[in-house]
Amino acid sequence: MNNKRDYYEVLGISQDASDQEIKSAYRKMALKYHPDKNPHDKNAEEKFKEAAEAYSVLSDADKRARYDRFGHNGLQGGGFSGFDPTTFGDFGDILGEFFGFGDIFGGRRRGGPERGADLRYDLKVSFREAAFGLKTKIKIPRLDTCGACEGRGTPKGKNPISCPACHGSGQVRYQQGFFSISRTCGQCNGTGKVISEPCETCQGRGRVKREKVLEIRIPAGVDNGARLRIQGEGEAGLHGGASGDLYAVIYVEEHPFFQRQGNNIYCQVPIGIAQAVLGAEITVPTLEGEEKLKIPEGTQGGSVFRLRNKGIVSLGERGRGDQFVTVNVAVPTKLTKEQRQAFEVLAKVMKEDELIQERNIFEKVKDIFG
Ligand SMILES: [Zn+2]
Ligand SMILES: [Zn+2]
Repeated sequence: MNNKRDYYEVLGISQDASDQEIKSAYRKMALKYHPDKNPHDKNAEEKFKEAAEAYSVLSDADKRARYDRFGHNGLQGGGFSGFDPTTFGDFGDILGEFFGFGDIFGGRRRGGPERGADLRYDLKVSFREAAFGLKTKIKIPRLDTCGACEGRGTPKGKNPISCPACHGSGQVRYQQGFFSISRTCGQCNGTGKVISEPCETCQGRGRVKREKVLEIRIPAGVDNGARLRIQGEGEAGLHGGASGDLYAVIYVEEHPFFQRQGNNIYCQVPIGIAQAVLGAEITVPTLEGEEKLKIPEGTQGGSVFRLRNKGIVSLGERGRGDQFVTVNVAVPTKLTKEQRQAFEVLAKVMKEDELIQERNIFEKVKDIFG
């Protein structure tokens, strides 16, 4: 019997370890050697059992005192015969709270207030709506608290009865090899109570599916993928739990003329050859109607002009972005006789082949060869 290892040694702690140290040392060991993580590993299973035994003694002030004075022998008799596997369910608490191991160690306590699920609603908005914001009504199918029974699942004046399968504890225990495992009772889902006379409206579920119409306000400046949280408009909670939240996820439709990048918008407008050469005042569409834009003399194709504060409002801040206008020089493809003559005159006086080609191409070549 006494080839057992010292319990402090098993947990790797000193004799004067605090309760907290014992707890965290055990947690570390239990996680490392947990059978779920080490399937079919005999050695790990041994280690796991050993740690659990050490913890069951050292976490109990009375047993620890006896062990400190008399060693393993101090634990014989006196109602303690080695490791009692049925105490195992109690370990769930210290692991469960950190690692969600509840289902292995005896089931999460159910039946308390449970928060309702969050819901997601995909909302398509136009480019302009995203820029300026909008108020809109959306319909969401969701589980709402049943009005007939106020979510209790049983008619007014009646009360749920104690669950016959688990005698109201919400847990059922069974033996699996070495372990005594407690599981959430399937009859009552861990609530410890069953409804003998279900509410007719919700069949005892406490919630009913309903389509709720909500008016929501989308703020100016939202962009693609923005998530708006609408608090408390998700599914109703259970047993008095809070409602979940609703998340509206924004999809912004493309615009035929504008592109958006952050709070700036971009567009392209054509200008004529003569306008590019001589300069002009052109009209440019903006989000709020037309705007005059001065094109200076000698503007090259691809030049970009900025219209300040004609972009999109900064979400939740002051100020707004700009509009960038790229001008493309449109080359006429059909000319009247008169226009053709004018271009021919132009070609003669401009000496374009010398002016542009020579300067641009041949000078570059010269640069390359030095
Ligand atoms: Zn039950
Ligand atoms: Zn009901």
